[in-house]
Amino acid sequence: MVSVTSGILREQLLMVYRRMLERYGPQHWWPGESAFEITIGAVLTQAASWGNVEKALCNLKQAGVFSPKALREIPDEDLARLIYPCGYFNAKARKLKSLAHYLGERFDDDLDALTVLDTATLRGELLAVYGIGEETADAIMLYVAQKPSFVIDTYTRRIVQRLGLAPLKDTYSRHQALFMDNLPQETSLFNEYHALLDRHGKETCRKKPLCEGCCLLNLCPTGGAKVSSR
Ligand code: SF4
Repeated sequence: MVSVTSGILREQLLMVYRRMLERYGPQHWWPGESAFEITIGAVLTQAASWGNVEKALCNLKQAGVFSPKALREIPDEDLARLIYPCGYFNAKARKLKSLAHYLGERFDDDLDALTVLDTATLRGELLAVYGIGEETADAIMLYVAQKPSFVIDTYTRRIVQRLGLAPLKDTYSRHQALFMDNLPQETSLFNEYHALLDRHGKETCRKKPLCEGCCLLNLCPTGGAKVSSR
């Protein structure tokens, strides 16, 4: 049975989604031409801007290092040099190699096979790979394996906090539960919702938010207080 509180939360979350979709339109995420590109992009984007990730991806493509097998075979220092633009290159080289070994040993490098595992099993396995944290695992789950696993990032935390929807405990799992416990378990909805939150966080609900003209203004206590104090 759906409680009154969760029914209200569901309506609020869906309203936020609809407003952003109306404002920005579909985002066509994840940016990437193949399951492999999305998978390694999810690692490279840790603490890096997407512009710098694109430079690293471009280097890997030009060097012909664009498959799990090629990642396993290239020496660590050469891989680190290729992904230099996205920062933490030595650590990320080790992470890419661990992921490539997992993909080879578990799926024979066939990324389509990720879809076959159930959600809990796949998430548990990804989290056990060196360098794969919750956000990266969920990005791979959602955008590669097409599983309904909501991705939480800095933009999402900031926006829900300003909207007054943040959970009492500031943890990844509580933020994820806010969306996953209150929305329909639909991969396409989670895909678009996360992409829209990122767009909104980059464009409007920045560190210094542009509240006037924000599509969420009349749903947002932070924005309401900010605008009325002027
Ligand atoms: S009204 Fe301001 S604080 Fe609220 S979501 Fe919009 S930009 Fe962010």
